[in-house]
Amino acid sequence: MNIIEDLIEIFRKFPGVGPRQAERFVYYLLRQKKDYLKKISSLLPHLNEKIQTCRLCQRFYLSENAKNDLCDICLDGNRDSKILMIVGQDVDLQAIERSRNFNGRYFVLGGLVPVLEKNVENRIRLAELKKSLEGRNKKDNLQEIILALDANPEGENTTSIIKKEIEKFTEKNNIKISVLGRGLSTGTELEYSDSETIKNALKNRF
Ligand SMILES: [Zn+2]
Repeated sequence: MNIIEDLIEIFRKFPGVGPRQAERFVYYLLRQKKDYLKKISSLLPHLNEKIQTCRLCQRFYLSENAKNDLCDICLDGNRDSKILMIVGQDVDLQAIERSRNFNGRYFVLGGLVPVLEKNVENRIRLAELKKSLEGRNKKDNLQEIILALDANPEGENTTSIIKKEIEKFTEKNNIKISVLGRGLSTGTELEYSDSETIKNALKNRF
């Protein structure tokens, strides 16, 4: 077993991390004190045990305080249930929440669909989305669905796929579909957008 190479291999598969960076991570860890490494290794098993995905929005949340497999946002009675925002990943949802410009509900797709990808279901939670839309609409009469995906080719591809997939449902139920305005400049990932940009993108949705 080569611990260094095994760890590099693990980090290399993290989102946005290349081989050089993965190597840097491992050498960074090697320079740390024993306690730090112990803390990391004691936290990791809990990721599986104490974090689960919300039945309605599919975001990750700490399951200790959970009721009915629902996260705190889905349980919050002060949020507007008639408006639902579809985001790519949990980090996008966090960016929107930090900006404090949205008070509706969410659905987390769990990824985006690259251009030319044939197997959409492998990349995003399409079946779960449809089920969630049906359920939410029955209960709360949805008025608007906002597609808040990255302003890059993957995000745009995913937006058009979802529009097509839910078109019949939204037409039948008279639900408006909107897309974030390009206060987000082209190529921008939602995750890295500041609050002012998110505010403008929401205001200018079309
Ligand atoms: Zn939820």
